[in-house]
Amino acid sequence: MADDRKGLGVTPQGEDFSAWYNELVLKAELADRAPVKGAMVIRPYGYGIWELLQAELDRRFKDTGHVNAYFPLLIPMSYLQREAEHIEGFSPELAVVTHAGGEELEEPLVIRPTSETVIGEMYSRWISSWRDLPVLINQWANVVRWELWPRLFLRTTEFLWQEGHTAHADADDAMAETLRMLGVYAEIARDVAAIPVVTGEKTAGERFAGAVATFSIEAMMRDGRALQSGTSHYMGTNFAEAFDITYQDDQSTLRHCHTTSWGMSTRMIGAVIMAHGDDRGLVLPPRLAPYQVVIVPIGRDADAAHAAEKLAAEARHFGVRVHVDTRDATPGFKFNDWELKGVPFRVELGPRDLAAGTAVVVARISDQGKETVPLGGLAAALPGRLDGYHGALLARAEEFMAQRRSKVDEWDAFVTRVADGWADALHCGQPDCEDDIKAETGATPRCIPSAGEPETGTCIRCHRPSAYGRRVVFARAY
Ligand SMILES: [Zn+2]
Repeated sequence: MADDRKGLGVTPQGEDFSAWYNELVLKAELADRAPVKGAMVIRPYGYGIWELLQAELDRRFKDTGHVNAYFPLLIPMSYLQREAEHIEGFSPELAVVTHAGGEELEEPLVIRPTSETVIGEMYSRWISSWRDLPVLINQWANVVRWELWPRLFLRTTEFLWQEGHTAHADADDAMAETLRMLGVYAEIARDVAAIPVVTGEKTAGERFAGAVATFSIEAMMRDGRALQSGTSHYMGTNFAEAFDITYQDDQSTLRHCHTTSWGMSTRMIGAVIMAHGDDRGLVLPPRLAPYQVVIVPIGRDADAAHAAEKLAAEARHFGVRVHVDTRDATPGFKFNDWELKGVPFRVELGPRDLAAGTAVVVARISDQGKETVPLGGLAAALPGRLDGYHGALLARAEEFMAQRRSKVDEWDAFVTRVADGWADALHCGQPDCEDDIKAETGATPRCIPSAGEPETGTCIRCHRPSAYGRRVVFARAY
């Protein structure tokens, strides 16, 4: 068994968090490196997580009035140039097609880094009257942003995401949409991924290229760093002016639309890995676990295998995603493997258990324990156990965040806090001061929390008067 453990083991988090992450993604078979540097192959186990996240997001998008559509991968270069800040922000990351069909193209085509431009062009054709508004469309797609320092799921040249793009008659309606979708992301993080998040507006330096206001959800990883896990942008009329997205109001006056965009990507899988994982591997939240329960029959007799299949069929009847591990390997190897893969519960069915009409249920997180329970009624109780597990995981993550996040008013305390956590501090809002803080500590303003109490004073770093009317969350971030 010692050799098995070695083969499945990962570097402890406390030793090297980054090595822990990289090894785990590969060993848990979530993803693999692709032939092209910076690209990623999402393996079935990782893609299973994405499919579950997709389904949860898609349902909520539709419940809030959105419909899906699909826009092209290739975008004329001139489209990106129409919005000055947009092209400036994205140009270093663009992959450009210059040749096709054996010839040099008259106009280069950009592989979409995001789709505001092509969707803006189409909206200008589709929208003409106030009666056409709002337009509430989401797209599921891949995008390409050239990445010099790739990390699987966190920063890859090509990644999967959804991008919502909406057009509205006025600022109020567009801002309400921006915040509504931010709320959907926060709900997904908390209720599906068991990750507590801080929601708020980004400072000017962290804003999306071309946006008037950018909002994000920020999650805390087990090393105390922040991971931006979803963003929602209010564009004002910037893209509407660049793409001539106009409508006639009910007085026949021609007006520009106010637009929004919002996205969540495969990066969220990185958040799940780093917000919950431990030295034994992944810890998956039940609602995103491809297998919520794995049954391991022990011993070679047919009874255990039969009992496992019967229990699995019953559990599926109750809506549980269950897998029976019939591989030709030792139980110890299987236990370690499913712990590495973060399955919430494993059920062991051994000869003695079967004779007694019981099973051993082991939870992946230790405070949920190991117990021997009667086989009858186990399947029906699994959904409740999974809900309880979700709650315990969320509570654990909330406690972790509470321990590592605090208000600080002195520079020394700030430096100590952001070394392994988050600091809520007053800040002047000046870019040069943000740069200085980053150079000194590696920390950046993550967001201005929506839930923050009104407060003013002097900047934590430069002592100029504070901006924003409340504290800003600073952290080192992925
Ligand atoms: Zn300052």
